[in-house]
Amino acid sequence: MFNNLSDKLDKALHVLKGHGSITEVNVAETLKEVRRALLDADVNFKIAKDFTNRVKEKALGQDVLTTLQPGQLMVKIVKDELTELMGGDVEGINLSGTPSIILMSGLQGSGKTTFSGKLANYLKNKKTKKPLLVACDVYRPAAIDQLHVVGDQIGVEVFSDRGNTDPVAISQAGIAHAKANGHNVVIIDTAGRLAVDEAMMTEISNIHKAISPQETLFVVDSMTGQDAVNTAKSFNDVLNFDGVILTKLDGDTRGGAAISIKSVVNKPIKFIGTGEKMEAIDVFYPSRMADRILG
Ligand code: GDP
Repeated sequence: MFNNLSDKLDKALHVLKGHGSITEVNVAETLKEVRRALLDADVNFKIAKDFTNRVKEKALGQDVLTTLQPGQLMVKIVKDELTELMGGDVEGINLSGTPSIILMSGLQGSGKTTFSGKLANYLKNKKTKKPLLVACDVYRPAAIDQLHVVGDQIGVEVFSDRGNTDPVAISQAGIAHAKANGHNVVIIDTAGRLAVDEAMMTEISNIHKAISPQETLFVVDSMTGQDAVNTAKSFNDVLNFDGVILTKLDGDTRGGAAISIKSVVNKPIKFIGTGEKMEAIDVFYPSRMADRILG
């Protein structure tokens, strides 16, 4: 995960690690390399610039030039800032409703259906949760089939209504079904298009208003880099969502989306998808991710 970024940051900081004492020039060069590594990872220019400015301020504030092990101190400062950039403290998902309603949003192909299954499985394994999956993609019968396949695989019931073309009505019927059958979590999988368009935004916004979910999650493919960040912004403007799900982190992603998304939409990344299997879900811990990136 993020091997290229890891290597480049390691090389950038390596210069300082060997020095017993360092100069302002060493620090400036290192920060330039750090910024370059972030830009190569597809982090937005302004975010990368602000990041290195903050690291510089901290480094000067902590007298990095006179400390005994300047390299170590710089690594720590970069790690702390990276953690902060990716979200700081961990926030869980809100499961306070009876039932708790979770609305999934995102583009087609982002991994919504797969993640809906993963989350249902994750919650089911917590024993106190009995999730219901609701299929609200009225445009693609294959999407409904896919959710049923996922549900069968993990032993979670799926609610669908193939003849119905109104996703608001289906989501409401799904919630009513959950209440009548003792499900305490309802996960609503919605339709996505290949790009942000007004019809999709109106539809998801109508569902959102009609069902008032405890948790609205935005699912995004981490491989799409800066596009992921732009798409997040469009969805957040309409839905004011609660958290981000970053999928396909097992692939050859450069990491820009993971690093930038929080500071653009100011919403936490809550889970990551790390594979196609139902078990490939992890809670997102910014500090662990920073540790991983910085080795
Ligand atoms: P949706 O259109 O948003 O519902 O997306 P899908 O759930 O159908 O996922 C699109 C494709 O991405 C499928 O082939 C999934 O198997 C795959 N996929 C989803 N999540 C992950 C992930 O975390 N890692 C990998 N490698 N593939 C994933």
